[in-house]
Amino acid sequence: MQSILDSEIKFLPGVGPRRAELLGKELGIFTFRDMLYTFPFRYVDRSKFYSIREIDSEAAYIQLRGRVTRFDLTGAERKRRLVVDFTDGTGTVQLVFFQGIKWVADRLKKDGEYIVFGKPSLFNGTFNFVHPEIEPATEGASSLSGHLVGIYTSTEKLRNGGLSNKAFAKLEAALLEKVLPAVTETLPAYIVQSRHLCPLRDALLNIHFPQDARQLNRATERLKFEELFYLQLSLLRQKTVRMRSINGLIFEKIGPAFNGTYANLRFPLTGAQKRVLHEIRKDVLSGMQMNRLLQGDVGSGKTLVAILAAMMAIDNGYQACIMAPTEVLANQHYNGVFKYIEGTGVKAALLTGNTRAAERRAIHQGLEDGSIHLIFGTHALIEDDVCFKRLGLAVIDEQHRFGVEQRSRLWRKSRVWPHILVMTATPIPRTLAMTLYGDLDVSVLDEMPPGRKPVVTVHWTDHQLGKLYEFMRRQIAEGRQVFMVYPLIEESAKMDYKNLQDGYMTITEEFPAPKYVTAVVHGRQSAENKAFDMDLFAKGKAHILVATSVIEVGVDVPNASVMVIQSAERFGLSQLHQLRGRVGRGSEKSYCILMTGYKLSDESRKRIELMCQTNDGFQLAEADLKMRGPGDFEGTRQSGLAIDLKIANLAKDSPMLAQARSLAQSILDRDPQLSAPENALLQANLPARSEIEDFSKIS
Ligand code: ADP
Ligand code: MG
Repeated sequence: MQSILDSEIKFLPGVGPRRAELLGKELGIFTFRDMLYTFPFRYVDRSKFYSIREIDSEAAYIQLRGRVTRFDLTGAERKRRLVVDFTDGTGTVQLVFFQGIKWVADRLKKDGEYIVFGKPSLFNGTFNFVHPEIEPATEGASSLSGHLVGIYTSTEKLRNGGLSNKAFAKLEAALLEKVLPAVTETLPAYIVQSRHLCPLRDALLNIHFPQDARQLNRATERLKFEELFYLQLSLLRQKTVRMRSINGLIFEKIGPAFNGTYANLRFPLTGAQKRVLHEIRKDVLSGMQMNRLLQGDVGSGKTLVAILAAMMAIDNGYQACIMAPTEVLANQHYNGVFKYIEGTGVKAALLTGNTRAAERRAIHQGLEDGSIHLIFGTHALIEDDVCFKRLGLAVIDEQHRFGVEQRSRLWRKSRVWPHILVMTATPIPRTLAMTLYGDLDVSVLDEMPPGRKPVVTVHWTDHQLGKLYEFMRRQIAEGRQVFMVYPLIEESAKMDYKNLQDGYMTITEEFPAPKYVTAVVHGRQSAENKAFDMDLFAKGKAHILVATSVIEVGVDVPNASVMVIQSAERFGLSQLHQLRGRVGRGSEKSYCILMTGYKLSDESRKRIELMCQTNDGFQLAEADLKMRGPGDFEGTRQSGLAIDLKIANLAKDSPMLAQARSLAQSILDRDPQLSAPENALLQANLPARSEIEDFSKIS
């Protein structure tokens, strides 16, 4: 149904084609609806004035009342700027203008009283306001209604294009006047009533122009709830649809594959591993397709769970595949499996980008005729000419490294839909998991195999290299091995490789052959060289492994007890944690040394401190989510799933998320098709909101 809300934004009076382009580019606003749903990200109480002496941070927008004492026009031509000294008797700040200088200069009078509104930034010991809003003090506190003034996201380009916060708010006001009558309620009356929500129209008006804090709270509550509710409803409905439309394979038998593997284990399973295997077992007996996310910190023993699950499939005449994100990891899984499957008659194979043509053909054949039961590999597995006879279980390790599209291709490989087990060592906070994987069931391996000791984590700066080398020498003398990791960021790959090469040179000078052996692994090596050096280290023949973050996932070298991370400030929290997980696998005390420059941004320092404080991946993930917000959260980005929440915050609104989810679930339990008359609004509003529609096909 076409509504006025779908009108292009250029048709809003005051916008026009040029500003429309700006709004689209800078804020993603293309229609009236986009504009209506672009909310202030904070509010300022404009009945309150700051005194200049009080200003102590660069963080917030504030309002001052005072006098202009001096104008200063500097620079020539394009570099011109106007600096205005402004005082309120408690101190002086500078108002700085780079644009529209003449306009400002014409309107400001020396000694005139003004109200200034803007964001302070500290520059050369003085607080500056760049392009603040400014108006004569006589005109009162604000020309817009109410004391609470919304602050919208803004950019340099918007401000230069004449869209200051004030101008933007004016457009919102004009828009509301035009469209509010056409806005219709989007939640059924029974939900609005039972949750005491305010009507949508009021919410939209008050979120932009609240009269007071109470109104604002009501509006926020209503809009957040609606957003979270529809998100959950759409995820849960996809799950319902999937469960009804796909018949799950049933793995009833427990036979020689499972029992033989189990008997080959040289250690008891952890309680958590047993619990998760029970959960999987229940899924594969249920007659419905399993879609399970297995979360477990690095080293918690996910691989073994995957292998035992694969055996359930194999015992019932199906095949299983275990897909890893890197060649190194696929190799390691494959090499590690033989000690488990010895004597069981299970035939395993490995398929990667480097598998030679003849072998590749043989493997394709084996997968097609069913003689290969268990296949390990990289995304070579999802290449088009791979076909399974009866794929029963697909396991994806380190899920976030596979793109959405790649994952979905795997399921189409077989005539039947396999059960899906997605494994990740990037712990995702519960709230986020509920949203990202709203239609998956989640299992957690929250117990480490016995004998693990927490990794001692310290932060040293580059001034302490001498200390680092000394420490490494002592560890090596005790028979330990050392990882040394360099960042690799695509945009600066060239520099990064240079740093790694330089680092390698330095290390071989500090740790000369033949006394010391140093291996090196990075993305620019041939596969053979990489495998050779990796093997050297894995077999204990090299003391030090210099590497880029390729070793991040999975590599298991129990004798390595020291992880040195160079330029640690350039890694994200979850990456740091992953890297740290490479050590602490043996029985020896292990260390993670985070090397950084002397100067650090606040955020980097916080990350490094957190790493030094805790070994708990979930705790780190929660902290990361709080620090960066879900949009930037690594798990979110890498999952390839953009969740664009306009107002709710997954980190802060988790209680409401849980309530929204349980309401959505109870509605679907009663009315799975949303066909009851009282749910007509839900049915009508759902499709427009399911940005994540494809997800059901993926997992
Ligand atoms: P993850 O993939 O979760 O990081 P892995 O599956 O690689 O962890 O397991 C890490 C190490 O722990 C492997 O060497 C594995 O053999 C070992 N392991 C797994 N389960 C157990 C257990 N129950 N008891 C002892 N060691 C275990
Ligand atoms: Mg693993």
